[in-house]
Amino acid sequence: MGASRRIGILGGTFDPIHHGHLDLGIAAQQALGLTRLLVVPANAPPHRLQPFASAFHRFAMVALAVVGRPGWCACDLELQRGAPSYTSTTLWSLHEFGYTPTELFFVLGADAFVDIGAWKDYPELLGGAHFAVVSRPGYQIDDLPGRLPALASRMVRVAAATEGFPPSDPSIILIDALTADVSSTAVRRRRAEGHRITGLVVRGVEQHIEQHGLYLATFHDGGQDSRPTSPAADRLHGQS
Ligand code: ATP
Ligand code: MG
Repeated sequence: MGASRRIGILGGTFDPIHHGHLDLGIAAQQALGLTRLLVVPANAPPHRLQPFASAFHRFAMVALAVVGRPGWCACDLELQRGAPSYTSTTLWSLHEFGYTPTELFFVLGADAFVDIGAWKDYPELLGGAHFAVVSRPGYQIDDLPGRLPALASRMVRVAAATEGFPPSDPSIILIDALTADVSSTAVRRRRAEGHRITGLVVRGVEQHIEQHGLYLATFHDGGQDSRPTSPAADRLHGQS
């Protein structure tokens, strides 16, 4: 059983989910031979910066985005918990459900991984799953060993078909892929400025955003994000 289960976990704020997220999941699914991919929207701590759309809307959009994608699931694990999301807590929960660390692949972009040192339960959480780090436009995989020298020895580049995959210990797996140059911030900005978001998100998500009037008042006139900015806003899924 163990060797054949490869469960990807794609965490994020997903405010909203866009084509960059989908490309990230597809790249991981293909490179790692994932049998399932759980897309897990994060819960915002009540005393911290809030996402612009409610957890209900963010989950609904994730559910719309996974329609027709074999193996992909919208996963409400972190929203059900009713507490702030920490990746470590999610990984320990999955262990309680019977998954071993080497069956789990936490999928994230290189921009998020460079902050890993600030995540709750670092460095122990790195033992909770493989971390599959995918390049993002502007954030190259090749830069990671230099930016995170303490972790360089744990970084590997392997493909699903390679002998000895997955590694027998939780590893940091680097995946080079071309993903759409989109961010949720850019989607929200376009909406607030009255532009269409066609092509940045899947059709169902676009319809959901339009039908519910989401992200219409996100930005001030100066084009700045109206929410107070903080590095934590980018790390909702793992912040400590
Ligand atoms: P925001 O602009 O609000 O920060 P975002 O587009 O960065 O949103 P997040 O929800 O913060 O999206 O990111 C969730 C995960 O998806 C992170 O691991 C992030 O690195 C990754 N990710 C987001 N966009 C891309 C992209 N275009 N290519 C590759 N990875 C991405
Ligand atoms: Mg982000």
